[in-house]
Amino acid sequence: MKILTKSRSKIFLLLILLVLLLCQTTFSQQLNGKYTIVIHGGAGSMDPNMEESSKQAYLKSLTAALNIGKEILEKGGKSLDAVEQVVRFLEDDSLFNAGRGAVFTAEGKNELDASIMDGRDLSSGAVAGVTTIKNPISLARMVMEKTQHVLFAGIYADELGKSLGADIVDPSYFFVHDRFNELKRMTRNVKGTVGCVAIDQYGNIAAATSTGGRTGKMPGRVGDSPLINAGTYANNKTCGISATGHGELFIKNTAAYQVSALMEFKGLTLNQAADEVIHQILPKGSGGIIAVDKNYNFEFPFNTSSMMRGVATSDGVFEVKIWK
Ligand code: ASP
Repeated sequence: MKILTKSRSKIFLLLILLVLLLCQTTFSQQLNGKYTIVIHGGAGSMDPNMEESSKQAYLKSLTAALNIGKEILEKGGKSLDAVEQVVRFLEDDSLFNAGRGAVFTAEGKNELDASIMDGRDLSSGAVAGVTTIKNPISLARMVMEKTQHVLFAGIYADELGKSLGADIVDPSYFFVHDRFNELKRMTRNVKGTVGCVAIDQYGNIAAATSTGGRTGKMPGRVGDSPLINAGTYANNKTCGISATGHGELFIKNTAAYQVSALMEFKGLTLNQAADEVIHQILPKGSGGIIAVDKNYNFEFPFNTSSMMRGVATSDGVFEVKIWK
């Protein structure tokens, strides 16, 4: 009897070992060891002769943001988490036109837009014109994961954020002096919308964009950033895109989706499709995009004189840049 129980427990142990082994091989098969992540901090016409300290501050922040995403992807984390965390970081940094540091409307208020998309199944979430949500990108993700809808706007979006447990702040949280001075001078050339696109070790693509819009915009104006297909797009079959620039032009040209469509229906490479949209379809001076495709390639074309941007890949590429 004792012998029987002993051999039974041996068989049981062996079975557990087998299951564990199976789990491990399936898991490691899914993780292919590859990732690519790209970020942007807005397109525009930053003065190449800007103070060295300001330049370094932007590059430092872009580097820190990129490292957050890179670390998540390196550890086998999801692209969706990487893009959300990177954009949250940039939203919290008042150097950029998203979250704290957002530009002002003509009425001197901050109205924030954001969107996120999951390339696995085209799930999307977005918010427009929020005024009390500390991290609009996280509310966009809540819209995607916790509601049946894609886009919420204005006070209803703020209220939804409250009921879903998003971090709420007083609108004065977004007030940053430099941005307010920009409104007074109506300087439109300092752009700092933020975005992130990534493909993880499972081959899943995600894209996220967040902005305060355009300096001096009419109250209630919504740009391309919270619009899936215009400012943000992700599809595992093709690519992921986050755009920055003159939103109205990106909306009219369905810019983000158009890159994917050119790849899917015309067989263009990411390089060709991104180039066509930015340099042939959109007018010069309108902005740029960051993009990754299903094969881990990346592109960041822009038709302005500058676009703050960065890339990190599993092949060891790591760079952040402002001008060409
Ligand atoms: N695309 C944004 C908007 O039009 C602004 C920007 O990217 O600079 O709202």
